[in-house]
Amino acid sequence: MILDGKAVSESVLAEVRVGVDRLRARTGRVPLLAVVLVGEFAPSKIYVANKKKAAESVGIASRDHVHPAGLSRAELLKLLSALNDDPAVNGILLQLPLPAGMNEDEAIAVISPEKDVDGFHPVNLGNLLAGKPSMVACTPAGCMEILDHYKAELTGAEAVVIGRSRIVGKPLAQLLLARHATVTMCHTRTRDLAAHSRRADILCVAAGRPRVVTGDMVKPGAWVIDVGINRLPDGKLAGDVDFASVEKVAHGVTPVPGGVGPMTIAMLLKNTLSAAEHQLS
Ligand code: NAP
Repeated sequence: MILDGKAVSESVLAEVRVGVDRLRARTGRVPLLAVVLVGEFAPSKIYVANKKKAAESVGIASRDHVHPAGLSRAELLKLLSALNDDPAVNGILLQLPLPAGMNEDEAIAVISPEKDVDGFHPVNLGNLLAGKPSMVACTPAGCMEILDHYKAELTGAEAVVIGRSRIVGKPLAQLLLARHATVTMCHTRTRDLAAHSRRADILCVAAGRPRVVTGDMVKPGAWVIDVGINRLPDGKLAGDVDFASVEKVAHGVTPVPGGVGPMTIAMLLKNTLSAAEHQLS
């Protein structure tokens, strides 16, 4: 079965649209997302344009802070502080990566945790670890939403997460743990990746390496979530999972594109709505 992230994202966006209408009726305001883009990284411009378009489609307003020529460290921190202090702004999206030489951790830490709709602030990551999720990182949240939409059984399941990044693998492992899965995390020093992946009822792959998981590495009947987005030399997109061979073995697998990708934007807008609801309550 194909786990259709595009369809699941549309149902999330429909819920967000209803929530925005409800907020407008109650407070006379719609959520406002401040978008900060520093530098000239071409893919970032496309991501930001897509996020703004999706925001508009659900009635979320956005305000641009675009600085193609770059910003000094002090200017960026001042801008983020001003957005924190601006009551009209409900969410702050700092598009990463920042230009070389800028300290992303420092910039993320300046954003108010209540406005950190990406869920990267140490306070939000810590809350997740403490078992009290506040603003959850969008891609891992999107993976959970797909699993829930298709009613995957998580309690007691063997879950294996390949990849331990701060924005995907680690938060995703925590979310699975919170739902009572038995979680194993794999990375480049894992000795026998296939031995772990073959045990997984839920296999989530966020390695950033094209087709690192093939059908022979998957347990029959498993749920496979492919987070990877890799550009191949021929220009095509590929996931971290070899879809053709894995589809034959798995119960369900997300395609690339059309799997986790659309979920990330939908969860960003869901976070923006909940930030606004919280701030205006
Ligand atoms: P990352 O920061 O590069 O982390 C990759 C992780 O995978 C690392 O922990 C690394 O281990 C591990 N890894 C790499 N090769 C491996 C291998 N052969 N076997 C086992 N583990 C391996 O990447 P990321 O930011 O988490 O992103 C992962 C992928 O998801 C990328 O393709 C990215 O483009 C995609 N992504 C998609 C979305 C979306 O919206 N769908 C959002 C974010 C990211 P070490 O820690 O040992 O180095």
